[in-house]
Amino acid sequence: MTLDVTVLRTEVAGPVLVPGDDGFGAEVTPFMLAATVHPDVVVGVASEADVQQAVLFASRNGLHVHIQSTGHAAHGTLSGGLLITTRRLDTVVIDPVAGIATIGAGVRWSAVIAAAGEHGLTAITGSSGSVGAIGYTLGGGLGPYARSHGFSSDFAISFRIVTADGELKVASATENPDLFWALRGGRAGFGVVTELTFALVPLAEIYGGSLFFAAEHIDTVLTGWLDWCATADPEVSTSIAIIRFPPIDELPPPLRGATALALRFVYPGEIDEGSRLAEPLRALAPVLIDTLGAMPTTKIALVHNDPDRPAPAWVDGVMLTSADAEFAGAFLARFGADAHPPVVSAELRHLGNRTAIDVEGGSSVGGRGNAFTLGLVGVLTPDVSAQSFDAFWAATLTSLAPWTSSQTTINFAAHPSPEKYPSCWPKDTFERLMSIAAEHDPQGIFSWR
Ligand SMILES: Cc1cc2nc3c(=O)[nH]c(=O)nc-3n(C[C@H](O)[C@H](O)[C@H](O)COP(=O)(O)OP(=O)(O)OC[C@H]3O[C@@H](n4cnc5c(N)ncnc54)[C@H](O)[C@@H]3O)c2cc1C
Repeated sequence: MTLDVTVLRTEVAGPVLVPGDDGFGAEVTPFMLAATVHPDVVVGVASEADVQQAVLFASRNGLHVHIQSTGHAAHGTLSGGLLITTRRLDTVVIDPVAGIATIGAGVRWSAVIAAAGEHGLTAITGSSGSVGAIGYTLGGGLGPYARSHGFSSDFAISFRIVTADGELKVASATENPDLFWALRGGRAGFGVVTELTFALVPLAEIYGGSLFFAAEHIDTVLTGWLDWCATADPEVSTSIAIIRFPPIDELPPPLRGATALALRFVYPGEIDEGSRLAEPLRALAPVLIDTLGAMPTTKIALVHNDPDRPAPAWVDGVMLTSADAEFAGAFLARFGADAHPPVVSAELRHLGNRTAIDVEGGSSVGGRGNAFTLGLVGVLTPDVSAQSFDAFWAATLTSLAPWTSSQTTINFAAHPSPEKYPSCWPKDTFERLMSIAAEHDPQGIFSWR
């Protein structure tokens, strides 16, 4: 498609690039390198006014609008349309008295956590600091504080958003409350969020970190952890991941090239109490590496140690209604030390307590009633294609069917195809999301990717 972007280039301050232009590739490349991102035009917005001009241009030219902050959710092929990249909207302002962060659309969690930390505050974020704060919060967001604090979207106070008519609106409990409800978990299809105000919590230190267990103890630790979860303190958030580590020098020797289980633990209370609560987990089996201890909240990303460099990764996930001893057997058959899954990581996160409690006025986030998340990560190579991961995932879902929930949450549903999209919310929630999207975007110009 040939587009005339001459006038648009004079209307916006940020770059307007079409395929073949210098810098086009760098502007569109997502964190998830396996995705192909090839729009007709990309606008690297530098202000709210740029966003408005870009949306109006797309509307006039019948183009779909896609939005990319970091590209952590990029998947498959994005072909055609107008891509708005938000990384230049990178301002974070902390109001330490009110305990509020004002976050631009291109800001990553690491920047929010660092700025809030200077005031003894923190943000309820996800496991990785490199994820975009707004893209994440729009999808709900379940991170290392899930049980003590709930979904990240529960902390959203207001959004500034450019809708399909090019208008800038505020969505909060008092202004456009329907849109506010939708943006707290409904993720895409409503407009371009330019700014989020987000409640911080006064928390400078946690008791947290990881326990690593060698391959021969994986069965015992997984089963013991699931038992422990049944009566776990409501303020403790834990997860496990069975990881097949690559043989690289950056890793400590016991993990290099090994299969191990990482048990992550976060307690946002007294350090001594955290240590006491973690004791039964430490006692499950001999610990290979123990990083549990007092930790500043600015270092929260060290609990999961997610990769922060772009990679050709494949991810998918689902939520579980429960996980018992029989589940452990089925899970270990696919991911245990003797299995040979194509994935590098199979993770379970324990939910409950605050994740089950909706905010006053309600929000659209899916999957509140579930007990665990399950997420897989694979790395694409010339020998292992996305199709083979998809086939493995389909077989995994079949074997774990008795425990998988019919509802999930969009941040964990990595490939939300049109058929899968509705299952990210309860039916009545999805219908309400559709009707709010239709009200603010009657022509359906915003993509649902
Ligand atoms: C390494 C890694 C770790 C992760 N950890 C967690 C975790 O702990 N918990 C969790 O819940 N999820 C997690 N996720 C999933 C992640 O939260 C989602 O992929 C999220 O959508 C990423 O947001 P982004 O802005 O970084 O990505 P992008 O791919 O840039 O954006 C994702 C989508 O968000 C929407 N969007 C982004 N910015 C805007 C905007 N300004 N206005 C309107 N819509 C917008 C668009 O629909 C876009 O397609 C993780 C993903 C990865 C790859």
